[in-house]
Amino acid sequence: MIHPRILVLVFVAVVGVAPFVLSPFSVTILNYIGLYSLATLGLVLLTGVGGLTSFGQAAFAGLGAYSTAWLTAAYGLSPWLTLVIGLLFTLGVGSIIGFATLKLSGHYLPLATIAWAVSLYFMFGNLQTLGGHTGMGGLPPVTIGTFALSDNSAFYYLIWVAVLGALWLSSNLLDSRPGRAMRALKGGIDVAEAMGVNTQRSKLIAFLIAAGLASVSGWLYAHMQRFVNPTPFGLQIGIEYLFMAVLGGAGHIWGAVLGAGVVTLLKQKLQDVLPHLAGSQGNLEGIAFGLIMVLVLQRAKDGLWPWIARVAVKRQPRAIDATAADLPTREKVDTRAPLLQVDGVSKRFGGLTAVRDMSLDISRGEILGLLGPNGAGKSTMFNLIAGSLGISGGTVTFNGERIDGLRPPAIARRGISRTFQHVRLLPDMTVLDNVALGAHLRASQGVLVSALHAERGREEMLMKEAARQIARVGLGAHINDLAGSLSLGQQRILEIARALAADPLLLLLDEPAAGLRLKEKEALSDLLKSLRSEGLAILLVEHDMDFVMNLVDRLVVMSFGEKIAAGTPVEVQQNERVIEAYLGSVA
Ligand code: ADP
Ligand code: MG
Repeated sequence: MIHPRILVLVFVAVVGVAPFVLSPFSVTILNYIGLYSLATLGLVLLTGVGGLTSFGQAAFAGLGAYSTAWLTAAYGLSPWLTLVIGLLFTLGVGSIIGFATLKLSGHYLPLATIAWAVSLYFMFGNLQTLGGHTGMGGLPPVTIGTFALSDNSAFYYLIWVAVLGALWLSSNLLDSRPGRAMRALKGGIDVAEAMGVNTQRSKLIAFLIAAGLASVSGWLYAHMQRFVNPTPFGLQIGIEYLFMAVLGGAGHIWGAVLGAGVVTLLKQKLQDVLPHLAGSQGNLEGIAFGLIMVLVLQRAKDGLWPWIARVAVKRQPRAIDATAADLPTREKVDTRAPLLQVDGVSKRFGGLTAVRDMSLDISRGEILGLLGPNGAGKSTMFNLIAGSLGISGGTVTFNGERIDGLRPPAIARRGISRTFQHVRLLPDMTVLDNVALGAHLRASQGVLVSALHAERGREEMLMKEAARQIARVGLGAHINDLAGSLSLGQQRILEIARALAADPLLLLLDEPAAGLRLKEKEALSDLLKSLRSEGLAILLVEHDMDFVMNLVDRLVVMSFGEKIAAGTPVEVQQNERVIEAYLGSVA
């Protein structure tokens, strides 16, 4: 097992000496691996981390390459200037495409990326100013001062400095507030939104970073070849980038380099060997790659890197800086008026009225139980308050303000935190990172400052707060474990810690005791009581009567979408309609 930092040093050292020990031909191969690594790294961030599949990465490389080709060859601009222009141009086009397509969900997004990848490819091939399908040459070499990077090993260093820089920025970003927001996209839009993440913005950021990395790769490619034509920027290469990311490990930055390396070297070998074996010429390696892809998707969906990391890289526990400042806390409202007031709320799904004319209220320091048999409409009611469903009628007032009609991030911002009936965590992230996501709205550090790691002081504040919440719910011993390795009961508690990290006024819990063992239920009950004594308001949706009875202050009971009873546990237990509708089976 090797310390990750040593692994990085070894990698940098190997990259540094490679041109001195390798043949010029091998250096050329490494140049291509570097270029592919850059474009693939973009896909790691977009697809592996953000969960958005794109076949259009090569097209963005084309925008960078053609921008510089046209402006340097036809107008004599400096390649350094055209690097910036090409990058800005790519980001501009990327913003337009992103705005138009990132709202699409499921398989429509990948289909859309195919559509614009193909149209950009044909644009490169059909614009005669860009040389049509034969391409255009005469690009100047990149110069540093008076030194022209015209031979392969000089260009090698330019490429690999870019790759190492991009890896550094990307790994910084992933280990930061905006990086966690991007990673949350993969866990589902509704989870990210409940944490207050502006998901549309996070998607666009991931998309633009990917486009930018591809553009830089295209710029390097153009000046390495000193010639551009449309072929390297077509759909097929876009698919190859995706293949590299998936094979290498799309969830990890090192997966990009690994994937680019393995695919490039394999292709080289296959092109040598296959025609001899098969006795015929043609794109035989394409067939082999297709088979490998199927195998990878079946046997190792996460790619090669996680597998290597498991056996070779020592996972480092994240240290918490106890001296970091505290995050700002919300102004606590101290009023006797209800904190949350739900009035005559209804929800219809087509012909079905899941919630009809429901009213309830919750005050500070109170636990309200929302009880009812399965299908009564509890979760629907819950989602109406949290904003993940829009209401069909009635009003929801929180802290003196109407909140019905607001999106979940806006509701989260006002101090309502939630958990999910079916646990929704990011299993590949640590307990600490999962909880830190909950504190998203209590900080503001953005992409640039995070990619440069210039926000470490503020990140330490977030981490300290996350650690505090984890200790508060009793998961301190698991802080560095992966969330997916915890038991179901612990995962439910972890969701509560994540919700608490937002410093809420009202906590919404949907069946938090489901699937818990007796001991875990007792611990949860104690935790909720102590949160209540700290002044938190809690809405507890449950169908487990026993769990609720000794815990809540008041109960509202639903059946078939309607309120059938309300009062103290004792009152409700004696209510005839409740006994009939709900306890009937028990009594
Ligand atoms: P509970 O949480 O009390 O078990 P739910 O609120 O999940 O009940 O469901 C109440 C009713 O609304 C059920 O009949 C369910 O099938 C229906 N329902 C819930 N969500 C939807 C939806 N998104 N579309 C259509 N029907 C739904
Ligand atoms: Mg439910």
